[in-house]
Amino acid sequence: MAAKNVLTRRDLLRLGALVGGGAFLASCGVKVASPALPQTPLNALAVASPSVAGTAAWAAQAPRSPIVLLSARPTRLIVHHTASANTSDLSRAQAYSLARSIQQSHFSRGWIDSGQQFTISRGGYVLEGRHRSLEAAQGGQQHVQGAHCDGFNDVSVGIENEGTYMTVSPPGGQYSALVGLCAWLCQQYGIPASELYGHRDFNNTDCPGDVLYAKLPQLRADVAARLGVSLRLWPTTRAPMTGERVRSAQRLLLAAGQSLTADGTYGSGTASAVRAFQSGVGLTPDGVIGSATWERLIRTVRRGDSGPAVQAAQGQLAARGYSVAVDGVFGAGTETAVRNFQTSRGLGADGVVGPNTWHALQS
Ligand SMILES: [Zn+2]
Repeated sequence: MAAKNVLTRRDLLRLGALVGGGAFLASCGVKVASPALPQTPLNALAVASPSVAGTAAWAAQAPRSPIVLLSARPTRLIVHHTASANTSDLSRAQAYSLARSIQQSHFSRGWIDSGQQFTISRGGYVLEGRHRSLEAAQGGQQHVQGAHCDGFNDVSVGIENEGTYMTVSPPGGQYSALVGLCAWLCQQYGIPASELYGHRDFNNTDCPGDVLYAKLPQLRADVAARLGVSLRLWPTTRAPMTGERVRSAQRLLLAAGQSLTADGTYGSGTASAVRAFQSGVGLTPDGVIGSATWERLIRTVRRGDSGPAVQAAQGQLAARGYSVAVDGVFGAGTETAVRNFQTSRGLGADGVVGPNTWHALQS
């Protein structure tokens, strides 16, 4: 099933008085790259690429040093506000002027280019920030190292929203463009809609403003709807739990290259493996398997696959009474059991253990 989404922000554009506004962003650092993730598409609906004005369109200056392209996909999106004036000028000219102003501001901090990967004007225009960000997102495999969120620049895409949203909401056209851009980036990079954050989640800052920050749950829901998925809430799994879900998580950790014993007991060895896994994918290493960790831990398995991830699915099926050998080999018997389980849960009976089936198996 596939559908195109039509972006309606252009309908909302209108011209207003020209009001200037500077851009102010928090200073940020960088860290080393993290390894690549399993690449399971998370969306059921195809999200159309939004119209993005590249750096050439808004007459960016060349970066002061070569752009750093990382080979690992980013794992989260971080929403910012520019803390500049809430201009009533919703024109394209204002959007381009804003992009140039931010770049100059960031040059003056000694940065090589605009810190953020993307910018959205109050008129709903989407612009490339740092050079090559658009190209990287179109390819969906590489990440342009930015400078927008201290400690998370190698794992997150930064989106600057023009304006100051401490006491007022972004204009409808800007919010609509934000939903469209986030959904497209989630699709391109396989980022779950749950992984949208505000700058203040990670750094000591008001950004993206009290009002915009309070809208993030709605943004996650709107992005999930655009992707055609439900926001999946997974059962928090932690020490000292025991049972099949723990064993299943342990097998998925083994499949991800961690060292531990799949004994169904969440002890210190499991917590340590979880922390190592979390660090590797850019998550806070708290040793607890919550929704964000589950979303990265699962990997799609289907007929012909083998290994501990297959065993994880088979173990859950067997624990639910399905007749299946827990041998780590995904054959015809496992496929039949998966189809039967999917039918019982109202899922499409395709015999493939993808994100929604994993979620049903672990819940
Ligand atoms: Zn910010």
